[in-house]
Amino acid sequence: MPEHDAPPYRIEAGTTLAAVLRKPPIDAIDARILVCHGLKLSRVQLITQSEHALDTKQAQLLSDLFIRRLAGEPVAYIIGEREFFGLALYTTPDVLIPRPETELLVELALERLPQRGRVLDMGTGTGAIAIAIAHTRPDAAVTAIDASGAALQVAQRNATQHGVHVQFMESDWYAALDGQHFDLIVSNPPYIVANDPHLSQGDLRFEPIDALTDHADGLSALRTIVHGAATHLMPAGWLLMEHGYDQAEAVRGLLQRNFDAVQSWKDLAGIERVSGGMVRGSSS
Ligand code: GLN
Repeated sequence: MPEHDAPPYRIEAGTTLAAVLRKPPIDAIDARILVCHGLKLSRVQLITQSEHALDTKQAQLLSDLFIRRLAGEPVAYIIGEREFFGLALYTTPDVLIPRPETELLVELALERLPQRGRVLDMGTGTGAIAIAIAHTRPDAAVTAIDASGAALQVAQRNATQHGVHVQFMESDWYAALDGQHFDLIVSNPPYIVANDPHLSQGDLRFEPIDALTDHADGLSALRTIVHGAATHLMPAGWLLMEHGYDQAEAVRGLLQRNFDAVQSWKDLAGIERVSGGMVRGSSS
């Protein structure tokens, strides 16, 4: 874990919750989430117990949580959870923290998923995309791969937690999928360019580097996924991939050769965030 100097911060015993939250040293919403987590309070209890004075242990506990956040550690890793598509997902430093923009990829996938369709999620991480699809469409047969065994353990725990069946496999992209065909392939692969300054800023510093960057031009994982997709898609099957804010045109270019109806979709911030197409001709 990277080392970061946090400014000194200490909550004194006897301080009320209201006082702690009035001027937190971190983002106000983060502070509320950490207090609820640390003291095991619901959001309503946080309000009804706002005049509660912290004892020594509680003051220490909250100081420690705030100091971790001040040092830059993402809230999702501190509390071990992040919500995605309405599902609370267990989240550890072995996996990328689910992002709201990835919900666009799930929505586009759901629109294109035939009854009892077979779906493949490549580089599943927390399992977010695969589990959101399986949860919304119990008729679907969802397979999810990741090259990281640690990530697959997190994903399996999330699938079990939400009572969905996903077939998880350890695989370097298509390596373990010989002869398997799908109606839909989805992926949020590592797409940040090697040495992008964002990798050493903010929450990204704490996330698994191999989930963020391909250590190359940012397009190598996307290229691998596109190249293998034609042989793993059923006729008229779709490939949908998330990518970086400036990669839409390049990804459409990769798709042109073997896909029809190639297009990109904008996320809520108005950024082209997902591109995809329908495989041309029959699967081979
Ligand atoms: N969307 C992430 C970010 O820019 C990157 C995730 C990825 O590389 N798949 O922070």
